[in-house]
Amino acid sequence: MEKTDILSLSSEELAEQICAMGEKKFRAKQVFDWLHVKKVSDFSQMSNISAQFREQLSEKFCIYRPKIKKRLVSRIDNTVKYLYGLSDGSSVESVLMEYNHGNSLCVSTQVGCKMGCRFCASTIAGWIRNLKPSEILGQIYESERDSGKPVDSIVLMGIGEPLDNFENVVKFLKILSESGYSLRRVSLSTCGVVDKIYELSEMKLGVTLSVSLHAATDAKRSEIMPINKRYDLKTLMKACDDYFNATGRRISFEYSLIEGVNDDDSSADELIRLLGGKNCHVNLIPINEVKEREYKKSRSVERFQKRLCAAGLNATVRRTLGADINAACGQLRRDDLEEKHNN
Ligand code: SAH
Repeated sequence: MEKTDILSLSSEELAEQICAMGEKKFRAKQVFDWLHVKKVSDFSQMSNISAQFREQLSEKFCIYRPKIKKRLVSRIDNTVKYLYGLSDGSSVESVLMEYNHGNSLCVSTQVGCKMGCRFCASTIAGWIRNLKPSEILGQIYESERDSGKPVDSIVLMGIGEPLDNFENVVKFLKILSESGYSLRRVSLSTCGVVDKIYELSEMKLGVTLSVSLHAATDAKRSEIMPINKRYDLKTLMKACDDYFNATGRRISFEYSLIEGVNDDDSSADELIRLLGGKNCHVNLIPINEVKEREYKKSRSVERFQKRLCAAGLNATVRRTLGADINAACGQLRRDDLEEKHNN
């Protein structure tokens, strides 16, 4: 019989299963604590639990963690990029970055992606499957263990569209929160899956929503982001306003600047028209060039930012981290897939 993936169970589900084994509820709390607070990777490390019950636990459950397949460390800024191997042979990436406010980990939520954004490396080979909660949590626990650094904030900005794996991502957030991790330290980035933004806002989890905008007119956005044909900008903006009104959390809009596509003065003015007067933040990202794509890094990042700021928008440029280790999401996995293919 296949063992149950214990790290994917909420505290409630764990309590149910442990009570069904004839143990008291506080036992489940102890086990949850070992798994998600002390973050042990083996039942034998659960020292306040009897050897006999630990044995029973290991017969019924497995503590599943992704395995580090590759680790690249930036010599410029200590950014660490991990390639994680999963049990079915597929792989995903995480990036650990050092900021003044602490360490931030960018995690993946799917193997591949269906969304088809034209500039993104994660979508090129399509979508394979959704990650389970344990596979998302495992990226955090393994990165912490390997680096010896605590993860102070988490961004769901790695491979995949988190709102296209809604159930598992919400369960991951629930378990994280039950472990005592404040969801205010979590940002969820979406290309704009509107019906799920509404569901998320109803849950009032307190996560920061980042919306990948990259263009401020429907014509331009539909060209680079197919999701815009399903949910246009008006529909998306309405959902963003709803999220802000329901949660009080300011939205962060991501805007990757691509030479000759969305980086001229008139694109800045379109963005000002779209976001002017909203309580939000604009995160400008010099696009990471992906070898399979023709898009080039903009040379007018500063000019674009100045124009937004002059119009009263709160716009900052994201620091480029890990420039020497190919830290853009999806690229390491792509290289790994290619290596496999060529061998
Ligand atoms: N699917 C989610 C989260 C993953 S992508 C989303 O779309 O938001 C994380 C962020 O990186 C998104 O803003 C995405 O648009 C952006 N991105 C993807 N490829 C990029 C590239 N080559 N250069 C710069 N940003 C990129």
